[in-house]
Amino acid sequence: MSLRRLFYPRVCVLCHLALVKSEKHLCVYCLKKLPKARLVDPTENAVFKVFRGRIPLGQAGAFLVFRSGGITRQLLHEIKYRDNRNLAVWMGEMYGEELLKSGIKPADCIIPVPLHRKKQKQRGYNQSEAFAQGLGAKMNIPVNTTALQRRTFTQTQTRKSRWDRWRNVEDVFFISNPEEIKGKSIMLVDDVVTTGATMEACARTLQLAGAQRIDIHSIAYAKD
Ligand SMILES: [Zn+2]
Repeated sequence: MSLRRLFYPRVCVLCHLALVKSEKHLCVYCLKKLPKARLVDPTENAVFKVFRGRIPLGQAGAFLVFRSGGITRQLLHEIKYRDNRNLAVWMGEMYGEELLKSGIKPADCIIPVPLHRKKQKQRGYNQSEAFAQGLGAKMNIPVNTTALQRRTFTQTQTRKSRWDRWRNVEDVFFISNPEEIKGKSIMLVDDVVTTGATMEACARTLQLAGAQRIDIHSIAYAKD
């Protein structure tokens, strides 16, 4: 617990009013206002449509809707730039509860989209990974943060021949240990889905490594 939390009352991250004991991160009023995506059918929804025809997809979904100037943007800002890791974990837990209720087919493991190493160092943590930890805890699914990796520039330079077979994939991600992926159903998790390019690159990499099913879920998706 940070010193700030010891000496100042806990406040709602959106309206900044003091929280009562039973409230976590958001007051009940702001919690009610959360723009939930409520993508009931995991194979027929807005996120699924983003990826349709691009990758073989099992199920897809998102916790919130993202609109510029909206609540989701404020929450993501709190997570990404104000170091509020616990908020990301908590949102993962809430989404996990929703998914359990929706009766989706559970995956073998959850894999968050890796951040640039530099960015992760600056931020101190990967927001997608924090969200994934909350999801995994609620759904009782292990989170794998090592199998899928983002290549650094030096690796591309020095180990080019080894990665030649990934040439047709976006040249950014690689699998460190294919045994952890082969034949598994994977729940791939990111913060915001907009064009879907990053998720598509990750999914293709997982597919080449023999993933049996890939599901895509995010904290939010951008609605135009
Ligand atoms: Zn509030």
